[in-house]
Amino acid sequence: MRVLVVGGGGREHALVWKIAQSPLVKKVYCAPGNPGIARQAECVPLRADDLVGILQFVREKAIDLTVVGPEDPLSMGITDELAPKGLKVFGPTRAAAELESSKVFAKRLMHKHSIPTAAFHIFEDAHDAHAHVDRAGAPIVVKADGLAKGKGVIVCGTIAEAHEAVRQIMEQRIFGKAGDRVIIEECLRGEEASILAVTDGRAILAMEPAQDHKRIFDGDKGPNTGGMGAYSPVPRITPALRDEVERKVFVPTVHAMRRENRRYQGVLYAGIMVTGAGPQVLEFNVRWGDPEAQPLVMRMKSDLVPVLLAAAEGSLNDARIEWDPRSAICVVMASGGYPGDYVQGKPIEGLNEAAKLKDVVVFHAGTAMSGGRVVTSGGRVLGVTALGKTIAEARERAYAAVDKVRFDGAQFRRDIGHHAL
Ligand code: AMP
Repeated sequence: MRVLVVGGGGREHALVWKIAQSPLVKKVYCAPGNPGIARQAECVPLRADDLVGILQFVREKAIDLTVVGPEDPLSMGITDELAPKGLKVFGPTRAAAELESSKVFAKRLMHKHSIPTAAFHIFEDAHDAHAHVDRAGAPIVVKADGLAKGKGVIVCGTIAEAHEAVRQIMEQRIFGKAGDRVIIEECLRGEEASILAVTDGRAILAMEPAQDHKRIFDGDKGPNTGGMGAYSPVPRITPALRDEVERKVFVPTVHAMRRENRRYQGVLYAGIMVTGAGPQVLEFNVRWGDPEAQPLVMRMKSDLVPVLLAAAEGSLNDARIEWDPRSAICVVMASGGYPGDYVQGKPIEGLNEAAKLKDVVVFHAGTAMSGGRVVTSGGRVLGVTALGKTIAEARERAYAAVDKVRFDGAQFRRDIGHHAL
C-alpha cells in the first residue's frame, strides 16, 4: 500500500512512525511533513490545506489511503474532496467535522441526545451574554463557537474575567468569525482525560485513555498551550469508567451523527471531565490529539494500518488494537516565549544521542532544515516520548532523553505525568 499522511506536526510524525512499521505499507508520503518525518516518509511540499494539490497528488501517486492529521483540512472538506471519487481517506467529512469546528453544533447535539455535558447557553449578542454572566455568576466558562487554534475556551474565576472574555471574543473579535456566537457554560470540576475512539460510523473502537497537560508551567500554571505533554494509561480512568464513556458518549454520538446524515468516520476525541456526577464531555475533536497521539502510538503493539483502512472502508467491526501494558510519556520541548511570541531558527543539538536511548522516540513537531542542520520552526518543537514499565520509569526515560537535547531558549515542563504518581 501507498499511504499519504496529511499534516506536519508531532501528531503526524507519530502517525507516520507507526504506519511506516506496517508490513502492509510499501511507501509513506507526508504533506508537508518535517525533518523528523523525513526519516520514515517522503515529504512532499504541499500544505495540509491545499486540497486541490493533495487530490492531484493522491491520483498521481495512486495513493491507497490518505490519513488526515489536523482539523483544518477536515473542516475544509478534504474527505468530501477525496471519498466521492473512490479514494480512501481516514477522517470525517466537513459536515461531520462540525463536532469540532462548531461548539454550538456539538453542544446542541449532546443536549438533544442526552449526552452528558456541562449546562450551557448560546449567545449571538454580546449584550445578552453580559447579562447572562451577571445572572449566572462565577466561576463560569466562556467559549467561542468556531475554531480558534485551541485558544477559544476561557475558564473564568470571576465575573469580571467573564465579562472580559465576552468583550474579547464578541466585541474585539480576537478570534474573528469564530466569535460570532459564544457558549457560556457551567464550570465543571474533576479529573480530565482524553478518550479517543476510532469509528467507521457504526462500530466503535475505544482506545486507551490519555491525559494531556495544557498549561505552560509546572503545577498547571500559566497560560494554555496546544499541549506540553501527555501520558497513557491514566490510572484513574478505570476500565469501568472507560466503558461508561463508551456507552454514554461514543455510542450515542456516533448514532446521532448517522441519524443527522453526518456519518462520522475517523478518530473521535472526547475531552472528558470526571465529575461527582460521572463523566461529562468538555469538547469533541475530530482527529487525534497532539500530544496524546505520541504516547498512544508507542503503546500500540498491533498494526494500526488495518484499523485505519477498516474505518475508511466501513468495516471496523472486527478490528482490534493490541496494547502494550507499559506506560508512555511524551514531554514537549517548546521554543522560549511560547505560547506567546517566540524566535525560530535555533539549531537543535543532541537529537541522535537522545534517539539512541532505549524505548525512546523523539517526535518532531516544529522543526525545519537550515544549512544542513535541524532548527526550531514552531512553538512546540519536539515531543520526546518514552515507554516504561511504570509511569515513573517512562518519565525517567523521557527526561533522560530531554536532557540530551539542547536548543537556545528551550522550555519544557518537569512534571508531566505527575497526576498519575
Ligand atoms: P476545550 O478546548 O473545550 O477542551 O477546553 C480547554 C480546556 O478548558 C479543557 O481542557 C478544560 O481544562 C477547560 N474547560 C473546558 N470546558 C470546561 C468546563 N465546562 N468546566 C471547566 N473547565 C472547562
